[in-house]
Amino acid sequence: MLDFYQMGLKTDLLKMIDEKGYETPTPIQVQTIPLAIAGRDVMGQAQTGTGKTASFGIPILNKVQKGQGLQALVLCPTRELAVQVCEEIASLGKIMRINVLAVYGGQSIELQFRGLHRHPEIVVGTPGRLLDHMRRGSINLASLKYLVLDEADEMLDMGFLPDIEKVLEECPRERQTFLFSATLVEEVRNLARRFMLEPAVVMIEPEEKTIAILEQCYYLVDYRQKVQVLCRILDLEQPQVSLVFCRTKKGADQLARILNRQGYPADALHGDMSQKERDNVMLRFRQGRTKILVATDVAARGLDIEHITHVINFDLPEDLDGYIHRVGRTGRAGRSGIAVSLVEPHQIKLLRSIEHHIGKKMRRTELPSSETAWHNQKERLLKRLNQASQNPLGIYDQLAQEIINSEEAQRFMAAALKMLAEDEPELESMELHMEMEEDIPDNMRAHVELPLGRSQGMNPRRLVEMLVNGTTLKAGQIGDIEIQRNCSYVEVPMDRIDEVYAASYKFKGPRKKPAARSGHQGKGTQEHLN
Ligand code: AMP
Repeated sequence: MLDFYQMGLKTDLLKMIDEKGYETPTPIQVQTIPLAIAGRDVMGQAQTGTGKTASFGIPILNKVQKGQGLQALVLCPTRELAVQVCEEIASLGKIMRINVLAVYGGQSIELQFRGLHRHPEIVVGTPGRLLDHMRRGSINLASLKYLVLDEADEMLDMGFLPDIEKVLEECPRERQTFLFSATLVEEVRNLARRFMLEPAVVMIEPEEKTIAILEQCYYLVDYRQKVQVLCRILDLEQPQVSLVFCRTKKGADQLARILNRQGYPADALHGDMSQKERDNVMLRFRQGRTKILVATDVAARGLDIEHITHVINFDLPEDLDGYIHRVGRTGRAGRSGIAVSLVEPHQIKLLRSIEHHIGKKMRRTELPSSETAWHNQKERLLKRLNQASQNPLGIYDQLAQEIINSEEAQRFMAAALKMLAEDEPELESMELHMEMEEDIPDNMRAHVELPLGRSQGMNPRRLVEMLVNGTTLKAGQIGDIEIQRNCSYVEVPMDRIDEVYAASYKFKGPRKKPAARSGHQGKGTQEHLN
């Protein structure tokens, strides 16, 4: 097999490859490096961990010239990836003294100006911040020879297409382009068609154990509605095999019981069960007799189950790595998986930390329209009636006959259905949560995220003013305020969340003359600049 010494690479680059301990090229490198050195555009299907960064980094480093200005640009979806890619290329280019700079949102732009002043040969960046630099004239792409779109599918999923297009329009036509993506879906191929020149396609089979989570989303729900929302997600998604995570053993037990009562075959799995009980649960699960496992983190740790299609975080994990361990259980062996989280309003900050930790934004999903919800509820009611009618009905059969013969037949039937429906998850979820969240105080407070930040003209004083004028809240009931660039967080009593959202939708930006009540600020009010 081809090794690094047969690829026509510069001695200084070979020395660094050697120093980094790369003995043989990985499959993506074997395929990509010779094509890239021959000057071809390359579209590669490869995931992180396959050595893809070096597969474009090595040929680019082999060609760039020290001191000749910006020659290569790598676009990445997240700052974490940008930093990682920058470090990998910089370390390979160390002996050649190639200057590689990462530019991404969230880092001081001044610092980046200084970095750009040192004329890096290679820049790695996220599309938004790059565009920002282009607009400010701090980066010029005129001398660019190599362009890389890394994790293209991620960038498209994150809505970066318009930004990417703007960056690409500024790149010289005569250049070599590389595109890497975990999946070569149609949108990615389209991008390649528009911006690449007869690209060679290179594919690497994902390793057996590669995690390929295609979708991670969350629902924002009040804690009282979690069971109901879970049932609706199960109706909607119809997961073949799902793992539902609860925070406590008791919670897992209760949730499994309620799901069974609602007609969703589920088993609990937690540390208080004997080995025999656990084996039985696993056997039923493997045989497909139950499709839902409700587990605690500890119980799920040692599980070896293939083909889980959905991981549902009924309760969010308490630590950030916990999230990765949980969702890593879906989408195994290259299959797609879905991870759904139920997020209570006061957990928004935890959710943002998780997103930051995994370097990926989760999609917020709304519950289906009330029409769909009604359709699903109807199905559930009919299913329950059908199940109950399989058992002997005795005196109720007689009573039904009497009602059918009476004039009130339809009204009575409607009343009975209403009672049955009202006995559905909502009530039980209350019960469940009363027991599970014993420590929740009556006056529970939530950190609400509002889509209004400094860019929308928001500041702490205006936020207090908006809430005092637009809701039933008094200034003293408003807690911590944090204003960020495009959003803000405010701490309010849990039962006022809807009002707060409603007021935020009506916010029209700064008014010329602030209202008279503006001076009052809530307790603990402060602004954190990000
Ligand atoms: P990547 O897929 O680019 O995220 O790379 C995954 C890891 O593999 C990184 O830590 C690289 O430094 C490392 N790596 C890249 N190429 C090789 C190679 N040929 N041999 C050993 N490790 C490598």
